[in-house]
Amino acid sequence: MSKKLIVVGGVAGGATAAARARRLDETAEIVLFERGEYISFANCGLPYYIGKVIKERETLLVTTAEAFKARYNIDIRLFSEVTEINRSEKFVTVKDTKTGETHTEKYDKIILSPGAEPLRPPLEGIDLENIYSLRSIPDSDLIKAQVDDKKPESAVIVGGGFIGLEMAENLAHRGVKVTIIEMLDQVMAPIDYEMASIVHAHLKEKGVTLILGDGVKSFSKSGDRIKVTTGKGVRAECEMVILSIGVRSESIIAKQAGLEIGKRGGIIVDSGMRTSDPDIFAVGDAIETRDYVLGFPAMTALAGPANRQARIAADNAMGRNAVFKGTLGSAVAKIFDLTVASTGSNEKTLKQNNIPYLVSYTHSGSHASYYPDPEMMSIKLVFSPSRGKILGAQIVGGKGVDKRIDVIATAIRGAMTVYDLEELELAYAPPFSSAKDPVNIAGFVAANMLKGDVKTVYWDDLKDIPADYILIDLRDKSEIDESGTIEGSLHIPVNELRGRLNELDKSKNYISYCAIGLRGYLGYRILTQEGFKATNLSGGYKTYKVTTN
Ligand SMILES: Cc1cc2nc3c(=O)[nH]c(=O)nc-3n(C[C@H](O)[C@H](O)[C@H](O)COP(=O)(O)OP(=O)(O)OC[C@H]3O[C@@H](n4cnc5c(N)ncnc54)[C@H](O)[C@@H]3O)c2cc1C
Repeated sequence: MSKKLIVVGGVAGGATAAARARRLDETAEIVLFERGEYISFANCGLPYYIGKVIKERETLLVTTAEAFKARYNIDIRLFSEVTEINRSEKFVTVKDTKTGETHTEKYDKIILSPGAEPLRPPLEGIDLENIYSLRSIPDSDLIKAQVDDKKPESAVIVGGGFIGLEMAENLAHRGVKVTIIEMLDQVMAPIDYEMASIVHAHLKEKGVTLILGDGVKSFSKSGDRIKVTTGKGVRAECEMVILSIGVRSESIIAKQAGLEIGKRGGIIVDSGMRTSDPDIFAVGDAIETRDYVLGFPAMTALAGPANRQARIAADNAMGRNAVFKGTLGSAVAKIFDLTVASTGSNEKTLKQNNIPYLVSYTHSGSHASYYPDPEMMSIKLVFSPSRGKILGAQIVGGKGVDKRIDVIATAIRGAMTVYDLEELELAYAPPFSSAKDPVNIAGFVAANMLKGDVKTVYWDDLKDIPADYILIDLRDKSEIDESGTIEGSLHIPVNELRGRLNELDKSKNYISYCAIGLRGYLGYRILTQEGFKATNLSGGYKTYKVTTN
């Protein structure tokens, strides 16, 4: 007898699971329930549609229900919300969202991919007009209509995650003056503070007002406008608000069916994407899965993991034995002219969990400096102090950031160390890279630290340095004139250092630095081989400066 598979949710995870299940079993009866009007739409493209970067609405529809049915022979039911799962009798109750009528549908297996809904905390005034969240095509229609028709002068974005920042860019692109209010002291939580500081400076450069370390307390009407008041009493007026403060798993039907739910509200699954009921699988934003690096429970609202999990769930629902090994949370976002990317663990998480780690900062060009228009990227590599196993990376810069983060994400999956990064043979020609790729350079610097070739201090160590520590700025005078120096530093250009060692004192501790760390390292090598006590400032003045702006 053929199997009956019910899929709940028809976008990233749901559509993928249904298509994969069909490819594996031509005889199965597959029914996909989607409570909205569309399946398989490009939610990741919605900010760009509002920004008119994506011009045609139809291009957001990766496929239509008719085309999907024609190709995969899947019974697609739009406007159909699954409201209940009866596990003992193996049927679901489905409500027609247009008429309110309900019916039941039998199943052998279910794959749940209901996603996650944007958070809307019960703040005073939250239900006022023109306060939006962005998840679906109808949401984007509402926001775009306001921008197109009402031509707002200003908007407040609550939350500095990647959706908030993408919206900031796209609204600015439409001529709207944007203010971002973020409760944390930084935007883009997956990256660490000093890397986010590069983003902060860039947002300000682009005319975005950034209010950090402060949360919204209330919204109120002020004539035709909305007044946003923060906990610290800051007031901002605007014509529209976008709420992007995070998402919550749509686990309600799973919960009501008695499936196991994690502490953070996600549906718990095993490595085969099975819930606590072996006939019910779950994938995507709604689930709690495993952090690949640390092995901890993780909730990741990203399209890549949703798609891969969907394939695995379909395999297993159709009788195969596939395993999901966890998520790295690899992510990339375009924030105006910057690309911001991360993979694996960040320093914050490792610190919170008392996991030992080391960090290196490097700043490299996207390609050979002699070929036109290289763009700089800052790489933070996080690795274990014992074997140099790569734990995570964050990269902020221009061209080529996406490629480097993907190389490092692959290296983490391959359980590689920083020594492996030194040895990676990556494709090179001047328009694309340098003979020493930025990933190789990150490996060299990290490996130098592990081999004891350099002792390092970090930007935040400089907040409180003992009196017998002396900073030496090894840059040229012109660089100092242009961008400043760290107060109290000696200035000896690196090329003069060997000839001016007599100006230094062997009883003191020297912290050498330059613009990005390379000349600082060279200075460190000269000083220590001449019997001076020294450390090098990782990432140089560039990393320090961005955190002090
Ligand atoms: C604006 C925006 C931009 C994004 N950009 C990126 C990006 O650049 N990169 C990236 O990796 N990720 C991005 N994401 C996240 C990515 O879209 C999600 O991680 C992914 O869509 C999750 O897939 P899913 O199947 O779990 O949930 P969804 O894609 O949200 O699909 C869930 C579907 O289930 C339906 N549903 C829910 N409950 C029921 C029910 N009971 N019955 C029937 N149907 C139901 C919902 O209506 C919904 O259509 C973005 C998300 C948004 C909103």
